Amino acid sequence: MVQEDVIQDRPLAAGDFAAWLAGMERALDSGGDGQSVVPCGGCTACCTSSQFVHIGPEEAETLARIPSQLLFPAPGLPSGHVLLGYDEHGHCPMLGDGGCSIYEHRPRTCRTYDCRVFPAAGVEVDDEDQLPIARRARRWQFSFPAEVDRIRHTAVRAADRFVREHRDLLAGAGVPTNATQRAVLAVRLHGEFLRHDDRIERSVVVEPEPEAVRVAMTSPLGARGRAG
Ligand code: SF4
Repeated sequence: MVQEDVIQDRPLAAGDFAAWLAGMERALDSGGDGQSVVPCGGCTACCTSSQFVHIGPEEAETLARIPSQLLFPAPGLPSGHVLLGYDEHGHCPMLGDGGCSIYEHRPRTCRTYDCRVFPAAGVEVDDEDQLPIARRARRWQFSFPAEVDRIRHTAVRAADRFVREHRDLLAGAGVPTNATQRAVLAVRLHGEFLRHDDRIERSVVVEPEPEAVRVAMTSPLGARGRAG
């Protein structure tokens, strides 16, 4: 048992940070059509962590494969947007013994979900119902082979810290209410925390004005991800 725990907690290679970040931004910018290449292995942590999965009305292939009684209207979104819930154990009802039973047609939310976003932003998953994700997220270890990897990592973490420390000033701009939203928002905002310094010919991390951050937060590319 102890040995199994040690194996389950073994570090996992998350890849070079800047390359991962670029891929994550592409997935977010594509409106969810980009597919994250996440080395999940057999991990089903995000399918067993009491998460509501958003499905858009245009995801016909997915909707056709999920019994309608498992879906309900997504609060705050236009008609046609639905959520897929979870059972009394926190498991997605589409999860079978061999993994996702609709894997080829799984929701866009699932295809783009990447729990490396938590260590990237330095955000701890602190919801008790999401312990499998918390445990998995702690195992990822990014590589920082070049300066750009470290600078971008610093910028993402600075973005999360800024939003936490300026909640009052940013109120009304969509301040995150859960760990997933927090981490995704830090990725989306990190560019606001980078400036090119012509003297040293590289990017440096800076602190922007709250108004610039507010504008970025209210841009059409809102924080995405599963509702925690
Ligand atoms: S639909 Fe499939 S991939 Fe998505 S949470 Fe459910 S079991 Fe996991």
